[in-house]
Amino acid sequence: MLNCLSIPGSSNILSTPIEFLKGVGPVRAELLKKELQLFTFSDLLEHFPIRHIDKTSISLISDIHPDTDSIQVAGTLLFTEVVGAGRGKRLIAQIRDSSGTMELAWFQGINWVTKQLQEGTTYLVFGKTGFFNGKPQIVHPELEVYTPARGDGKPFLEPVYPSTEKLKARGLNGRQLAKLTANLFAQIQPADIPENIPEYILAPQQLIGRSQAFRQLHFPASLEDYRKAIDRMKFEEFFIAQIRLNLVRLRRHKHSKGVLFEKVGDLFNQFFHQYLPFSLTGAQKRVLREIRNDTGQGKQMNRLLQGDVGSGKTIVALMSMLLAADNGYQSCFMAPTEILVQQHYASLQKLLKDLPIQVAMLTGSTKTAARKEILKGLLDQTIQIVVGTHAVIEDVVQFKQLGLVIVDEQHRFGVAQRARLWEKATIPPHVLVMTATPIPRTLAMTAYGDLDYSVMDELPPGRQPITTVHRNESARGQVYDFVRSEIEKGRQAYFIYPLIEESEKMSYEDLTQGYEQVKSFFPEPRFRISMVHGRMPSDLKETNMQRFVSGDTQVMVSTTVIEVGVDVPNATVMVIESAEKFGLSQLHQLRGRVGRGSEKSFCILLTSYKTSKEAAERIQVMTSTNDGFVVAEKDLALRGPGEIEGTRQSGALNFKVASIIHDRDWLEKAKLEAEKLVEEDLSLELAKNLILRSYLSMQEGGTVWSRIS
Ligand code: ADP
Ligand code: MG
Repeated sequence: MLNCLSIPGSSNILSTPIEFLKGVGPVRAELLKKELQLFTFSDLLEHFPIRHIDKTSISLISDIHPDTDSIQVAGTLLFTEVVGAGRGKRLIAQIRDSSGTMELAWFQGINWVTKQLQEGTTYLVFGKTGFFNGKPQIVHPELEVYTPARGDGKPFLEPVYPSTEKLKARGLNGRQLAKLTANLFAQIQPADIPENIPEYILAPQQLIGRSQAFRQLHFPASLEDYRKAIDRMKFEEFFIAQIRLNLVRLRRHKHSKGVLFEKVGDLFNQFFHQYLPFSLTGAQKRVLREIRNDTGQGKQMNRLLQGDVGSGKTIVALMSMLLAADNGYQSCFMAPTEILVQQHYASLQKLLKDLPIQVAMLTGSTKTAARKEILKGLLDQTIQIVVGTHAVIEDVVQFKQLGLVIVDEQHRFGVAQRARLWEKATIPPHVLVMTATPIPRTLAMTAYGDLDYSVMDELPPGRQPITTVHRNESARGQVYDFVRSEIEKGRQAYFIYPLIEESEKMSYEDLTQGYEQVKSFFPEPRFRISMVHGRMPSDLKETNMQRFVSGDTQVMVSTTVIEVGVDVPNATVMVIESAEKFGLSQLHQLRGRVGRGSEKSFCILLTSYKTSKEAAERIQVMTSTNDGFVVAEKDLALRGPGEIEGTRQSGALNFKVASIIHDRDWLEKAKLEAEKLVEEDLSLELAKNLILRSYLSMQEGGTVWSRIS
């Protein structure tokens, strides 16, 4: 991917190995490959500057204040000396300009730097400023011999590139790399960087051409020029990614054969008219229509359903499965935990008990005899719906007519897992993935852009917003009092303890201690407590959970095993212990366990006195909004796209210039243009789109030979 400009084996100059660039040679080439993965001319072309320095903008040493961040000065070297020993050993250099003196310091590469420095020479020095013993200092500055600017009053912007210590030691620091890019531009022609976006798309967006953009990205004549180059590259990155995703999606629609759900039959209609315990929200209806639409067309559905916690995804799943059954197909409903599976199973059984449809549950703990029965039932289709954990995708599980797979609370259901499902039917079943947490729109558009996409942005009527508060240890007594008052009103409460993955033992101890503490405050027999955690045998887990669901126990003490999906509408208080240890999306998921009924609900985030700045921000977000989409956006902004689970490996997010957090507008524009283009010309045959087509096929060109050595 990095090497998107080169055609292996072609005569394009950009695929030339880096050692053939003027100023490189074999030794530096090795280093460039090893340190920066720069193998070819095109890699260097795409090694973008981190910033530009304006050589005409030089400050005075006396301008440096304690809050100055970084600065550029021109100073004459007075002397150097090596001071200290061991780890404190450093090279100190004094420089002076017309306004005063300052120190430069190096802790590494002392010998090499000493050799480069000449007393009496004037250097242009750039770096982050600090103060040491009350005097301004720059540690490991960038520096070069000072040559006065051209003096024509225009800025002179010089690129500074990412570099490494090893490269710096070989004379290739951030600024010296600029000499190489300058040599590169001297060796290539504009035509060597062919355009890849059709002019009819670029022009209305007022975007500059590709080769001009590359040149201005490295060597802009003004900041305005640089901005134009950046805009062009941002658009290009998003646009190309969106083209790919849309091609995948639309080609699948066009070419893949899917199971056909021709009709809406008796099961669906009967349920809808007689057994549905409430009326559907507008969002639920819309999503059902979307699903009906997809599956009624004979194309394979791959749909991501996003809905905030409590928006009622389960009923959408259930009615989709009835649709499948009406058309003679079986469905498989998967959930990530046994607790959730049991709960889904119980609610399906309850809702479907008067309909002629057979539902089974299959998990890791299903006993052998029962398992045999179920496997047989799936093979001869006496069972129409199976609810299960991942146990249902094991190879031994075979269906007679699998038509629909629903994956609950897990948007990370991977390609490999999907492939396993496909092996279970001659025609791939429809897949509906329901997310655990809302995904920010920009992330959904990029990381999951090849899927069809539905949003349920409406909660069932009658819900009261959850009140979320932050308390610390000193208020523990009051928190318990409050919980008791809720329980006395007939409500139920959760106490959640963090699960620390590195130390299951420790979190277990935390939990049991917490349990004792809660128990001493809520003594039996007046109060009854359930405890559930990951290390518990699953039948015990189930019993304890069931007691809470049925209202037999009023308090649930648990780790995050109940994080997703669990639905106990009578629970109105959620106390999250050590809330600072949880991530935002997890906190939101946990909070979603309350506020599911008509009573007012509360979420109390308990933390220690001191929390990190990041934790404080998370808590602040939680106490200020209930909207999962807002929480998700904040989460993305706080953590960055690379850290959001499940997307790290997703190539769809490898943007060099563009950011899905800061460049929404460009992403929206690129998406719109890409959709239009692909809809009009799915096979990219139109003359006006040929440059795009050849660019894409070039990128898919396979092995990049220069990397193999
Ligand atoms: P989630 O989207 O978090 O999976 P659920 O499907 O568990 O949400 O639904 C949450 C609660 O809302 C359940 O108790 C469910 O019965 C109820 N519910 C779902 N849809 C509606 C509706 N249209 N009207 C009223 N209650 C609903
Ligand atoms: Mg759910």
